[in-house]
Amino acid sequence: ENTLEAFENQLVQYEDLVSSLDVNRDLNRNPLFDVSFSYENFENVELELPNLSIEMFENDHATAKFDLTFTIIENDNLLYLGFEYSTDLFKSETIKTYYEYLREIIAQVTKDRSKSLSEITILPKIERDKLLYHFNETSVDFPDNETIITLFEKQVAETPEAVAIDCQERQWTYQEVHDKSNQLANYIKGKHSVHPEDFVGIKLERDAYLIVSILAVLKCGAAYVPIDVNYPKKRIEYIENDSKSKLIINDDILNEFKITEKNIPKQAESIKIHASQVAYVIYTSGTTGRPKGVMVTHKGVSELIQWAGTTFDSSKFSCIYAMTSQCFDLSVFEMFYPLSIGKKMRLLDSALEIGNYLNSDENILLNTVPSVVKRMIDEAVDMRSVSMINMAGEPIPIDLINALPLGDIEVRNLYGPTEDTIYSTSYTFSNRPYNNMPIGKPISNTRAYILNEYLEPQPVGVIGELYLSGSGLAKGYLNNPELTALSFIENPFVEGTKMYRTGDLVKWLPDKNIEFVGRRDDQVKIRGYRIELSEIEHYLKTNENIKEAKVIALKDAFNQEELTAFIVFNKEQNVADLQRFLSHNIPGYMIPGTFISIEVMPLNANGKIDKNALQKMNAESLTTGVEFIAPRNATEEKLVIIWKEVLQKETIGIKDNFFALGGHSLKAVQLILKIQKEFNVTIELKEIFMEPTIEGISLYFDSIDVLDAENFTISDTDGELIF
Ligand code: AMP
Ligand code: MG
Repeated sequence: ENTLEAFENQLVQYEDLVSSLDVNRDLNRNPLFDVSFSYENFENVELELPNLSIEMFENDHATAKFDLTFTIIENDNLLYLGFEYSTDLFKSETIKTYYEYLREIIAQVTKDRSKSLSEITILPKIERDKLLYHFNETSVDFPDNETIITLFEKQVAETPEAVAIDCQERQWTYQEVHDKSNQLANYIKGKHSVHPEDFVGIKLERDAYLIVSILAVLKCGAAYVPIDVNYPKKRIEYIENDSKSKLIINDDILNEFKITEKNIPKQAESIKIHASQVAYVIYTSGTTGRPKGVMVTHKGVSELIQWAGTTFDSSKFSCIYAMTSQCFDLSVFEMFYPLSIGKKMRLLDSALEIGNYLNSDENILLNTVPSVVKRMIDEAVDMRSVSMINMAGEPIPIDLINALPLGDIEVRNLYGPTEDTIYSTSYTFSNRPYNNMPIGKPISNTRAYILNEYLEPQPVGVIGELYLSGSGLAKGYLNNPELTALSFIENPFVEGTKMYRTGDLVKWLPDKNIEFVGRRDDQVKIRGYRIELSEIEHYLKTNENIKEAKVIALKDAFNQEELTAFIVFNKEQNVADLQRFLSHNIPGYMIPGTFISIEVMPLNANGKIDKNALQKMNAESLTTGVEFIAPRNATEEKLVIIWKEVLQKETIGIKDNFFALGGHSLKAVQLILKIQKEFNVTIELKEIFMEPTIEGISLYFDSIDVLDAENFTISDTDGELIF
């Protein structure tokens, strides 16, 4: 009777529900849910029927119905708890841990029923301590007052005649770099009154004087502020004003210095620098359209360098390629790590120049973003002279790791925000194949916490936000105490210390490594560049012709993320206009390659812009604003085909600008390689920047007589890839 009554109350049966909801049916998954919880508190009725005996039926539990089922059975004033789980999905240890979590929760709520959810910790103390402290046992006693300068000067004393910098065929010894930077320090102290703790802008092209200038500033006890000469004027002005730079070292200043140089002593009075002093301020994209200056200390850098000293086997490499722009912190590692261990730094303009030297150097350590390494693999660059690769700055695609010759090259994944001095965690790849992407363990004197929204640690395997603490923490954002207070908060686990909220979503793996999962917000990485999408939107919206704008990073045909802007116009613009407009405020790497005009911004139920809907939108991208002219001869036709392959765009006219169609430097390199293959002609990268149209390139061909291509020899490295 009971049972029949219950059945009457069953309005919708499970199977009916599934079919009426019309959900996707997949044989490997449960249609509605994966985890079930059932609470059974049937009255214990004694059933006695004549001529019928009743026994317990033992379920053999051969197959679990759902991924996981918890059952609680109330009986005789006791609660019995059962777990049924799919052994394909869970190990028995995992289920035992879940049991511990549940027990912990029950223990807490039975002790105090008024406890709010946020106060309940699901980790038993012993496990909580393991995650917070044991996983973070990274302490190493590095000397207290080491700075970038003390590390460098020790090396000068040890190997004065060794080559420190190799740049544009000129080699500088340690002694020369030391002397020259002393002279420049003396000069800027005297002539420009640079004092300890001043900020000094560095606005220079990349040659040895860049390094000399940075050292000179640091030797004064001041902090350097790198400024890219190619940044838009407004951004340069912003950085110069915001940092209140006492002096900007540019070519003019250097030229004045070079005139009087002979009379300046090569010895400099050594200024005592405290390790807690700021060494540099690096500006990074800000959500409100104002870049934020991260103040990084000598201690952060010197500890990072000393960590590298204890971790990297320096007998495995003889030179380091310094190719990251001085405006990003990978460059700090590339400059000061070699200079503190007596190695040679080959100073390059950018990663695009790697190929020019791979044949002449041996045992190279490359420190760069995964996008660059991916291109090298895609273009089958000969990497025999590379012995170590550090990849950092953006997530590494898994197939890239599976494609690298790990037996010959030691490859690391280095993770870290600028706010925690270059690198925070490190992982050395070994046991392929990988199916997730570990960023490793916290480096020396760095603590990693993976926390939920209530700042409680997440168990192993559960996604949380990464917070970092330790000697690498920056002093904060220059002139921005509010943002500093929001991002650098009290560390509740070690009294009197701070921790930085990264915005990165990660989880602990059982082997104490951390796996990178993604971002919590709208910050993206495009070819390693850190970009707040809202900063681009901010500037787009300052254009009176634009009503609404949303920028998202979408994967292109080569699985690389590219910026795409969706725009509701007041008055339609073309790509060239929009790119020009943006270029007054933001650097080239932040300018979207694709613009799509839409009628209305799609919103989701919460009234927020629906990014999924935007991604699925099949709208045509805006025209480039250039008159379409079809190819006129065989050369131009072939070039159009190559452009289509590289840019993945349908219509390409001979007057279209490569960059307005979404081209960028890495794609330009691809273009060059394809042109080389098709026409047997090597075009220099700068030609593409100067003549970014098919018409321009084919005119360039004419000038070098491609018809004679059979006999065309390019250089002694004929056919060599440029990177
Ligand atoms: P930046 O301050 O430019 O170094 O950017 C820091 C951000 O880049 C981090 O918060 C991550 O989102 C991302 N990032 C840096 N290194 C890695 C890495 N090895 N793997 C995945 N993401 C990374
Ligand atoms: Mg970083």
